[in-house]
Amino acid sequence: MINIVLFGKPGAGKGTQAEFLRIKYNLLHISTGDVFRYNIKNSTKLGELAKSFMDKGDLVPDNLTISMLENEVDKNTGVKGYIFDGFPRTINQAKALDKFLAKKNMHITTTIALEANDEELIIRLLNRGIIGGRLDDQDEEKIRNRFEEYNKKTSILKVYYENQKKFHSVNGIGEVGEVNNRLTSLIDKL
Ligand code: ADP
Repeated sequence: MINIVLFGKPGAGKGTQAEFLRIKYNLLHISTGDVFRYNIKNSTKLGELAKSFMDKGDLVPDNLTISMLENEVDKNTGVKGYIFDGFPRTINQAKALDKFLAKKNMHITTTIALEANDEELIIRLLNRGIIGGRLDDQDEEKIRNRFEEYNKKTSILKVYYENQKKFHSVNGIGEVGEVNNRLTSLIDKL
């Protein structure tokens, strides 16, 4: 089994690269952002609870996010592995994920952070906001708040996974194909 965690600030290209890795390695791609958006679109209880946080660019509380993620994994067993895109984003989520996988005799193979500078990311997100219509991509203040959430709560996960010798970073600037190649050459060496 290969289980990969993709990190990166909003706009770093996690979703795009995860789709490519999903096909190449025959994995199941779980994007917590996509699952939340699906729930909002379908007016579920979970969607209703998550919406106010997402609209502001804040993280959704851990308890909601963790149980949703566990549910997604449990719904999709018998796969070759998972790509976790947008999860974990806090230390509590990382600990919960380790515990949850251990109970199933599974573990994270590696974590990879896609790196890009804030100014490039803002340009990408504002563009995505125009094309895709996501409200949290249309307002620079909300985008900066998401970066702040990342800096405050997610970036420390680097140390958490470095301690497990499972942290890598990849330059996320360049053509999509170039970034693909950087990722696969790293994964193929694992
Ligand atoms: P981006 O990485 O571009 O911000 P995502 O689609 O991954 O986009 O996430 C959108 C929003 O969904 C986040 O701003 C946050 O509110 C919520 N979210 C997604 N994943 C998590 C998570 N693991 N923990 C808490 N909130 C999350």
